[in-house]
Amino acid sequence: MLIVQKYGGTSVGDVKRIRNVAKRVVDCFKSGNEVVVVVSAMAGQTDRLISLAHEISEDPDPREMDALLATGEQTSAALLAMAIKAMGYSATSLVAFQARILTDDAHGRARISEIDTKRIRKELKQGKIVIVAGFQGINHEGNITTLGRGGSDTTAVALAAALKADLCEIYTDVEGVFTADPRICPEAKKIDAISYDEMLELASLGAKVLQIRSVEFAQKYNVPIHVRSSFNHKEGTMVVEADAEMEKIVVRAVAHDKNQARITVRGVVDRPGIAAQIFEPLGQAGIVVDMIIQNTSEDGITDMTFTVPKVDFKKAMQLAKEAADKIGAKKVLGDEHIGKVSIVGVGMRSHSGVAAKMFQTLAQAGINILMISTSEIKISCVIDEKDVERAVKELHKAFIESE
Ligand code: ADP
Ligand code: ASP
Ligand code: MG
Repeated sequence: MLIVQKYGGTSVGDVKRIRNVAKRVVDCFKSGNEVVVVVSAMAGQTDRLISLAHEISEDPDPREMDALLATGEQTSAALLAMAIKAMGYSATSLVAFQARILTDDAHGRARISEIDTKRIRKELKQGKIVIVAGFQGINHEGNITTLGRGGSDTTAVALAAALKADLCEIYTDVEGVFTADPRICPEAKKIDAISYDEMLELASLGAKVLQIRSVEFAQKYNVPIHVRSSFNHKEGTMVVEADAEMEKIVVRAVAHDKNQARITVRGVVDRPGIAAQIFEPLGQAGIVVDMIIQNTSEDGITDMTFTVPKVDFKKAMQLAKEAADKIGAKKVLGDEHIGKVSIVGVGMRSHSGVAAKMFQTLAQAGINILMISTSEIKISCVIDEKDVERAVKELHKAFIESE
């Protein structure tokens, strides 16, 4: 079999853990498999590099930022290759230009456009274990790009798709995908199998166990993912196509996201084109607007409220203020202390009353809802940041423990 394994930051967090990973990789190789390993930077390293950059400059150059951040994964890839060689097996580490991972130009959030697998295949043919630095790519000019936080997951799944691997294993610091983040909800249970659709929603709603782009790739190219722990040998969670069994469960998991901020443009004259004038500059700046609410207008004046990722808050405020000035809106308010809780499940398509139960649960806990959004398979509420953990526990109790 050809197996792609990805090890996250905690799994390669220090020398002892890198040796542990080396042993697992070699075991897989010794069982007769071809093995391609994708690694993240050692735990905390990407954050350290980001804060170094911000000590030098308030608004670091995106090209240089990617050049800097990519070193985290280069380091762990080389260290893992050394550890495997020290065990007497042959291994090669490859960074993006060697592994030929090509992306677009969007520094900090690049998308993989193509992977030329010739080099990797050549190394595999020579009997080597191939270690690929995750999270990075190169654009058409040969500049280093990065794929956004958590991007090593996407490197792994994209490689699995390009190599037509039999399996993609994502090794992390939890035993799989749980019914809620196990770090804040001790009652959360491991899910044996989850559909691509549900996992996509969970990833986009803040469950950082898989980067959203990696799930998109997996679904598009039908790559089965096995999310599991690098610290034991228990079966984890399979991410696969939905089946009839999965539809029976109404709420599969609770997700939360504290990395959101809310912006309100007050006193907007309600006429055609207003929304476009507010949101166009945000889109051009690459800022992903999530929820949007426009109140019904009174006397032709309305408010527009929306959420953006916290990292983009400052920039989004500035752009919203510029737009507000242009369209003659009264003022722009911002709130960084919000969070989002969501419930997700493909079974919601065929069940009613789920939203009402969610709102009741939050009300009984005295938690105020600031914004609501729904899709076929999820309901999300924006609430105060300080209430997020309590909300997750209460929703988990109401929808998962009691079922
Ligand atoms: P890695 O460094 O291995 O990529 P991440 O920190 O990116 O790991 O992702 C794993 C983390 O995701 C877990 O430690 C856990 O706190 C968090 N997480 C959030 N929601 C979930 C969930 N529903 N199931 C499992 N883990 C979750
Ligand atoms: N090192 C990068 C990050 O911390 C990518 C990853 O870990 O997947 O976001
Ligand atoms: Mg991750």
